[in-house]
Amino acid sequence: MSTFQAPKGTYDLTPPRSATFLAVREAISAPLRDSGYGYIETPGFENVELFARGVGESTDIVTKEMYTLTTKGSDQLALRPEGTASVLRAALEANLHKAGNLPVKLWYSGSYYRYERPQAGRYRHFSQVGAEAIGTEDPVLDAELIILADQAYRSLGLRQFRILLNSLGDKECRPVYREALQTFLRDLDLDEETRRRIEINPLRVLDDKRADVQKQLTDAPKLRDYLCDACKAYHEEVRALITAAGVVFEDDEKLVRGLDYYTRTTFEFVHDGLGSQSAVGGGGRYDGLSEMIGGPELPSVGWALGVDRTVLALEAEGVELDLPATTSVYAVPLGEEARRVLFGVVTELRRAGIAADFAFGGRGLKGAMKSANRSGARYTLVAGERDLAEGVVQLKDMESGEQTAVPL
Ligand code: AMP
Repeated sequence: MSTFQAPKGTYDLTPPRSATFLAVREAISAPLRDSGYGYIETPGFENVELFARGVGESTDIVTKEMYTLTTKGSDQLALRPEGTASVLRAALEANLHKAGNLPVKLWYSGSYYRYERPQAGRYRHFSQVGAEAIGTEDPVLDAELIILADQAYRSLGLRQFRILLNSLGDKECRPVYREALQTFLRDLDLDEETRRRIEINPLRVLDDKRADVQKQLTDAPKLRDYLCDACKAYHEEVRALITAAGVVFEDDEKLVRGLDYYTRTTFEFVHDGLGSQSAVGGGGRYDGLSEMIGGPELPSVGWALGVDRTVLALEAEGVELDLPATTSVYAVPLGEEARRVLFGVVTELRRAGIAADFAFGGRGLKGAMKSANRSGARYTLVAGERDLAEGVVQLKDMESGEQTAVPL
């Protein structure tokens, strides 16, 4: 071990586990790529204001968890704590919404940073694959995204996840509910911090995990009773569409999510094998976000699935992904001359598109064959002086164990 270790709350992805991460990213993005979503990549940091305005000044993400920095040029930046605000910023900047082809459907994959208290499944650096559909208000779009996330998890073999669904109302009905909730909450016996939360983000109080708080919330006004007719109809349509697709979900009135920009549809994917950090992904509609960051009105919907927690979920369910071996042919030279010749063969194979690897370092036959086995290669090429003198190499089929001499 060196003097240095990965910073607190982070970990390295190393083989062989790293292959699972790649496969998970691939599996989550595949349904998106097949559904008209184009790839977008944005910087790992943004102007801090983007998140303050977009994600919300009252959220934990912005007040407590953001990695902020001042550059030598006095710019105030933040490592991105989430993807949606950046993607929308980039789409607006590139005028993608003006190309006359709404919704703009985008997918992304990358690293995100939150200064959280590290624990199992909660890291300071984590990885998400996300999707955003920008510029269209259509319940079919909300349904599409939920169905595609469900498809992604299923394609990985996950079964023990649940989909929680809620509607947060819109700019007409949510403020009315917010006020009714505040009036109710102000009369409760709550600590100072929670009392402050009532004033800036009362819906988050519903999310409080403490039993004594939850007990007082039994008779809290329900958002459902305040939804306007348009929001109700919209939500019913989303529910009907995902039901028709055979996707099972649970209505969860308490689902508010930790970001301020959500309106109407909100959803979360939870996995029952993960303990307290059970959310493997989440998302929803954010009809007001574009205007909040200075853009035009662009009703949008999206989600982000956590790659780290998806891998943990696979491990919790005991799902082993069927990852094909990366090496097809492994070359084992015995002696100097064979090294040169077989390395030439390996180079030729690679150029012909056949994945090949080589026993480096002049090891003996036994150690080299161990490496060949570990590589998962279907065939091993072995050659010593005598083989070369005869103009052959030994081709070993690693499945049957059969070995045949083939001409070089
Ligand atoms: P959020 O933007 O908070 O809704 O996060 C979306 C998904 O990203 C979550 O469901 C998690 O799977 C993942 N995620 C968020 N924060 C973390 C974290 N600190 N560590 C690991 N995964 C995270």
